[in-house]
This record gives sequence, structure tokens and C-alpha cells, in this order.
Amino acid sequence: MKNTKPETIAAQGLGWIDETTRAVSLPIHMSSTFIRDPDNQYRSGREYARSDNPTYDQPEAVLAALENGKDAMLLASGMAAATACFLALKPGDHVVIPKVMYWGLRLWLFDFARSWGLDVEDIEMSDLAAVKAAMRPGKTKLVWIESPGNPMWNITDIAAVAEIAKKAGAKAVADSTVSTPVLTHPLDLGCDVVMHSATKYLNGHSDIVMGALVTKTEDEYWERISGVRSRIGGIPGSFEAWLLLRGMRTLFPRVKLACANAQKLAEHFAKHPRIEAVLYPGLKDHPGHAVAARQMRGGFGGMLSIRIKGGEAAAIATAARVKLWKRATSLGGTESLIEHRGSTEGPGAPCPMDLLRLSAGIEDAGDLIADLEQALDGNA
Ligand code: PLP
Repeated sequence: MKNTKPETIAAQGLGWIDETTRAVSLPIHMSSTFIRDPDNQYRSGREYARSDNPTYDQPEAVLAALENGKDAMLLASGMAAATACFLALKPGDHVVIPKVMYWGLRLWLFDFARSWGLDVEDIEMSDLAAVKAAMRPGKTKLVWIESPGNPMWNITDIAAVAEIAKKAGAKAVADSTVSTPVLTHPLDLGCDVVMHSATKYLNGHSDIVMGALVTKTEDEYWERISGVRSRIGGIPGSFEAWLLLRGMRTLFPRVKLACANAQKLAEHFAKHPRIEAVLYPGLKDHPGHAVAARQMRGGFGGMLSIRIKGGEAAAIATAARVKLWKRATSLGGTESLIEHRGSTEGPGAPCPMDLLRLSAGIEDAGDLIADLEQALDGNA
């Protein structure tokens, strides 16, 4: 149907059914290889599951539809998806990344990608003058965007940065894991590719690790990324791909609930006597609030951070006292998670040591607030 809303697309998985059995949940294909025709052709279009897997078709089609993209690709993890975007470049290429971004990727870029030959430059991406100044036309091949940026939730003006990248002849790729296709459409804002750690909100149940990419056009860059996936073999298993689709059916209600809970938590703790600062783009005094309000629709995401008065020891002690919140890394599941992020990121990262990262789940907001209140009380 024309003009079908994304909520409907997600809930019905684009309405696909299995033509053979009329099942509304499609089968999981486990085959690693496919029959060649007697005249040596592969008319089915399938050869070998490292390049292509029929179980990916529906989740990839749903993702492409939700992101308004041309094509989508599932990969073994968010890191497999992100690194494929850089490995599709060539040694000597210049790439610009934000200072505040997913720590694991930043580490890989400074460690592996630099030694492989990429010229990696990190800048404050919310500062458009800094983005412009970093462009080296002809040399800069990729500008990496992450908004809100993990774990400080800095906001990048995606449309403005994508425009600057385009003028310099560079691709703009956005890690939209935290924002999700429910809230932001980076391709509509001018990005070439959007990346997700599907481990998080897309799946939503903390039971798979997966990555996804969606492209605006099937160009040479996309072909190279596809080549990286099939040559390196960073592919998910069939069952995981099926679980992703199951998770995406409830993406919209889950993300809307998580956003509402995060907003309530941020507002409740904003002026708390035991909290130094609440970092959440949904708060009016957040420096990126106006840009976030423009480019995020229906909420400001389920992620926020709190900086605890008393520093690192008080932050770790607060996390130790929670009863309902789960003390674990990751984000985007139905259960709320709390993490002393500095312990994960280590020295040298921009994350302050008094910071607790919160992933708001879909529980009752009052329960989450009460648990955090009692945990903070222990700091008296
Ligand atoms: N991007 C963001 C924003 C993330 O939070 C994460 C994981 O925490 C990743 C990428 C990497 O994803 P994965 O753990 O699925 O490899």
C-alpha cells in the first residue's frame, strides 16, 4: 500500500508471508550453499551464504524501508558494520570523526585504521566551523557522524555536516544506533550511509549481536562495502537475522516508551542535590537541544548520563547500590542498564570518571526513579 506508515511497516515486517506455506513468520534458511544450474549459471541469484542469505532479505528490506534507503546489509556486529565503512576506503585517505563517539570504534580507528594507513582526525563535530576547517578536498573521503554521541550525548547537526562533507567530495556516514529510525532519518538529512549496532534498539532484547548498514544509493562505495562484508565474512547467523526481524516488529512502541522514560528520568534528576549534571538532549538547557528538536522526531532517545557529586568513587558506589537497574554495558534493551562508563573506556577517553551512563528501558518510570533515588541516598 502507498504511504504506509513506518509503524505499520515495522509491526508487519513489510507484510511479507511465505508463499509456500502461507506462514506470517518466514522460515529460517540454514543452507550455506545453493544449487548451480546445469548450464553453470546461478539463476536463483544465490551462490554461497557468506555473500548472501535468504533469511536476511526481510530484515534488510524492512530496514531499507524504515531508513528511506535503497538497500540494506546485515553484518556480524555494529563494529563489523562500522569498520566495513572505513575498510572500503583506501590507505592514505583522510577521515574525520567526532571526539565524542562510540569508544570501541574510536579505539579501532586510532589503533588499527591508522596503522593500516587511514589518516584519522578527530574534531568537535557540534562545531560546524571545526568541521569545515577539517575538510581537505580530494583527500577527505569520509565524515563519520554519531548523534547523540555516546556517552556525553553531544548533538551534531547532521544536515549541515553532510552538506559540508558533500562539498568536499567526502561521504557522510551516520551511526544512528542511539537515535534509531524511529527518531531520525540521516539519509533524508543528506548522509550517504546510515549504520546501526542492531544489537541495541533494532533488536531490543539484549539477545543478539549484529550490525546493519543502509545506503541512499547503490554506488561504487556501497559495492566496496558489500565486498568487505563477503570477503572478510563478517556476517550474522540465520537465527540471529530472524531474531532481529522479530525485535524490529516492536521497535516503535519500545523506542517511544524508552524516550518517555529517559525524559522523565532526566527531568526528575536534573536538579538533584547528589547529581552534578544530567546530560540529555531532551533537556532545554542541553547545548544541542534546539538542533536535536529539529532533527529528532517524537523524542530525544532512551540514553542519558548523570555525573555524580563526589567523583569516581561515588559514581561506582551509586551503581553498586541499584536493585532494579541492571549494572551492565550495552543499551537499547527492554531492561534499564546503568554503567560506570569510565571503567570501560579507560584513561584517554573524553568520558569523565564521575559519569554513569543510563539506558532507559521500558519499565515503569516511577520504579526506575525510586531505585536510583535509593542508590543516590547512600552517598549521603
Ligand atoms: N555504535 C554505538 C553507538 C554503540 O553503542 C555500539 C556498541 O555499544 C557500537 C556502535 C558497536 O556495536 P556492537 O557492539 O554491536 O559491535
